[in-house]
Amino acid sequence: MTYQPPVRDHIFILADILNIDQYGDLPGFADAPMDVVSQIIEESGKFTAEVLAPLNAVGDKEGCHWFPDHTVATPKGFKEAYAQLVEGGWPALGAEPAYGGQGLPHVINLSFTEMCSSANMAFGMYPGLTHGAYSAILAGGTQDQKDLYLPKLASGQWGGTMNLTEPHCGTDLGLLRTKAVPQADGSYKISGTKIWISGGEHDLAENIVHLVLARIEGAPEGVRGISLFIVPKFLPDSEGKPGARNGVYCDGLEEKMGIHGNATCVMRHEEATGWLVGTENQGLRIMFVMMNEARIGVGLQGIAQAEAAYQAAAAFAKDRLQGRSLTGPKNPEGPADPIIVHPDVRRMLMDSRAIIEAGRTFLFWTAMHGDLAHSHPDEAVRQKAGDYMALMTPVLKGYLTDRGLKVCSDALQIHGGSGFTEHFPASQYMRDVRISLIYEGTNGVQALDLVGRKLAADGGRAVMSFFAEIDAFVAAHGEDLILKPFVEGLDAAKVQLQDGTMWLMQNGLANPDNAGAASTDYMHLFGLTALAYMWAKIALVAQTKIAAGDTDPFFANKLVIGRYYLQRILPDAASHLAKLKSGSELMMALPADAF
Ligand SMILES: Cc1cc2nc3c(=O)[nH]c(=O)nc-3n(C[C@H](O)[C@H](O)[C@H](O)COP(=O)(O)OP(=O)(O)OC[C@H]3O[C@@H](n4cnc5c(N)ncnc54)[C@H](O)[C@@H]3O)c2cc1C
Repeated sequence: MTYQPPVRDHIFILADILNIDQYGDLPGFADAPMDVVSQIIEESGKFTAEVLAPLNAVGDKEGCHWFPDHTVATPKGFKEAYAQLVEGGWPALGAEPAYGGQGLPHVINLSFTEMCSSANMAFGMYPGLTHGAYSAILAGGTQDQKDLYLPKLASGQWGGTMNLTEPHCGTDLGLLRTKAVPQADGSYKISGTKIWISGGEHDLAENIVHLVLARIEGAPEGVRGISLFIVPKFLPDSEGKPGARNGVYCDGLEEKMGIHGNATCVMRHEEATGWLVGTENQGLRIMFVMMNEARIGVGLQGIAQAEAAYQAAAAFAKDRLQGRSLTGPKNPEGPADPIIVHPDVRRMLMDSRAIIEAGRTFLFWTAMHGDLAHSHPDEAVRQKAGDYMALMTPVLKGYLTDRGLKVCSDALQIHGGSGFTEHFPASQYMRDVRISLIYEGTNGVQALDLVGRKLAADGGRAVMSFFAEIDAFVAAHGEDLILKPFVEGLDAAKVQLQDGTMWLMQNGLANPDNAGAASTDYMHLFGLTALAYMWAKIALVAQTKIAAGDTDPFFANKLVIGRYYLQRILPDAASHLAKLKSGSELMMALPADAF
C-alpha cells in the first residue's frame, strides 16, 4: 500500500469550508483562485506520492552517514529528490515574490507540507526548517541580510536550521551558554556546542544557514540575554556565493528511534563568524517567529503521519482475513472475513478518521488566520486572526500530535503482529511520529504556554473571541434538524471549556501548581472543543450540499464520521474537565524521594 495524497479532502477544506475565493482581493489569494489551487494540490499529490513516498522506507532503513571530515550523506535517493523539489519550485510556494517566492498564502503551502510529511517526514523536515529560517530572517533581518539570504532559502538552493538546544539546556533556554564575541567589523565570533540540530549538516544544498541562539559577552543571565545570529556553513563571498568554510562543524549524528533519514547533528561552533539578527538580547523574540511556524509544522506532522498510518491500516483491514463477522459471514466463499468487519477494528479506523479530518481542518483554519493576520486590510480582522494564531498554536502542536500518536498506534494495532515487524510500514509511522510530541517544546510545555501565557494575554481577548464565535454559530444553526447534534455537542463542549477556563482563573493564580497540574487536560479539552467546531462546520457544508441534491457519498460520509466524533470522542471532554478540576494536591503530595 503506497500513500494516496488526500487531494479531495484538501480541496474540500480550501474551497468549501474556508471558501478561500472570498479573499480574492487580498495579496497572495489574488493569484490563487480555487481552480489554480486545485491544480497545485493535484501536482503536490503527484510529486509527494511519486518522488518522496518511495524513499520513506529507504531513509528509515539506511539512515544518514557521518564522515570524519564532518560531512553527512543523506540516504540514497534523497539528493536527487531534493534537486527535483528545488527544480519544481516547491520550497518557494509560500515565500515573498520580492525574494523569488510565489507569494501564495500559507494555507496553500500547508497543503503541500502535509503531503510532503505524510510521504516522507524525515525528508520533509529539510525544506520545513529552511522555510522557518527564511521566516525568521524575513521578520528580523536587515535589508542586506534579506537580500543576501532570502532568495537562496526561498528556492531551497541553501538549507536552513535552528540551533537552540545545548547539552544542559533544552526547555529552559535561559541556561544557554553558547557565546558571541563582538568583532571590529560588526560580526561576532560564535563558540559553543549545540545538540540535536535537525539538518545541521547534509549533502542536499550547496550551503546551510544556521540560525543560532547565543549570549553576547557581558549580556544578562537568563532569557533576557539571548541574541540570534546567522551563521552560514560557507561564508558568502562578494557575489553572494558560498565562499570560505566557516567554523561550524557537525561532530556526529544521533542514533534515533525514528526519522532516520533526517540528520540530527551535534554542532560545534568554534569561533564561527556570525551576524546579529535584530537587536542584542532580543533573539528569542525573533526565534519565536521560527518556533511558532515550526510548532504549526509539527502539529501538522501529527496529522500527516496519522493520515499515512491510517491509510496503511485501512488497506490491511480490507485484506487480512481473520474470524467471522458477529452478524454472519461477509466473505462466505473465503476461509474467513476481512478484519474490517469487526466492530473493534472499525472503532480504531473511525476514531482515526474522526481525528484526522477535523484535525486537518483545524490546521488549515488556523493557518488561514495566519494569512488574514498578515494581509487583511481591516485592523479588527487582523487583530482577531493574530489572536487566534497565538492561542491555537500550542493546541495544534500539543493536541494534534498526542492524537496523531494514538492514530499511529491504532494503525499498528490493526496490523496485529505484522505491525510490530518491519515488513509493514506501521512501525515506521509509529516511530517517526513520536518525536512530534517532544521537539519544538514538549507537549507539556505547549500546555503550560496555553494556560500560562496565551489564555491570559490581553485580558483573555482571544479565548473570549473564540467563545463568541462558537455562540454565533450555535445561534445561527441550532434549529436545523440535521445539524442539531453537531450544534448541541459543540455548545456543550464550549460550556465545559468555559468552566475549565474559569476554574483555571480562580485556582491557577492562587496556586500555580494547580495551573501546571491542569494544563494537559485543559489543552485536550480545548482541542476536543476546537475539533467539535470543525465538525460542525464540515457538517454544515456537507448538509448544504446534500440538501441541494448532491448524492456524492463524500458528503454523506462526512456526516457519519462527524456524528461518530460526537458520540465516541467528544465525551472525553467531561473526563478532562473533571481531571483538571481535581487540582494539584494529590499529584504533588508525595516527597520526591518517594518516587
Ligand atoms: C530528533 C530531534 C530533533 C531535534 N531538532 C532540534 C533542532 O533542530 N534544533 C534545536 O534547537 N533543538 C532540536 N531538538 C531538541 C528539542 O527541541 C528538545 O529535545 C526539546 O525542546 C525538549 O528539551 P529536552 O530534550 O532537553 O528535555 P527537557 O527540557 O530536559 O525536559 C524533560 C521533560 O521535563 C519536562 N519539563 C521540562 N521543563 C518543564 C517545566 N518547566 N514544566 C513542566 N515540565 C517540564 C518536559 O516536558 C519533558 O517531559 C531536537 C530533538 C530531537 C530528539
